[in-house]
Amino acid sequence: MECVFCKIINNEIKSEKVYEDEDLIGIRDINPQAPVHILIIPKKHFEKLHQIEEISLLGKMIKIACQIAEKEGILNSGYRIVINTNREAGQSVDHVHIHLLGGRIMKWPPG
Ligand code: AMP
Ligand code: ZN
Repeated sequence: MECVFCKIINNEIKSEKVYEDEDLIGIRDINPQAPVHILIIPKKHFEKLHQIEEISLLGKMIKIACQIAEKEGILNSGYRIVINTNREAGQSVDHVHIHLLGGRIMKWPPG
């Protein structure tokens, strides 16, 4: 299996896990773009956001992102969730993931 996130899920590659349940993991991004930068990743491999038909899974990903935001202390100061899809949006890993970012002032519009 080539996918880096599937390898992390299968514990073939190390990561700093902050959350795990039967559907999802949360790990610290290896190249953080903010003081808090966590990836919420479904255990089932989907390449693209628009391929996920399971609305309950999408809802859970967002709900868990919010719970992690609270745990990381950025719920009230500010947090941003981002899902990059395809080349022009900057998707570099073809396994759907939410970026949870916070701990600094964010710019708008995003680059
Ligand atoms: P994207 O560019 O939106 O597809 O996001 C992929 C993210 O995965 C980037 O922010 C990378 O820094 C991160 N990443 C890639 N490999 C690893 C890894 N082994 N452990 C943790 N984060 C990773
Ligand atoms: Zn995968």
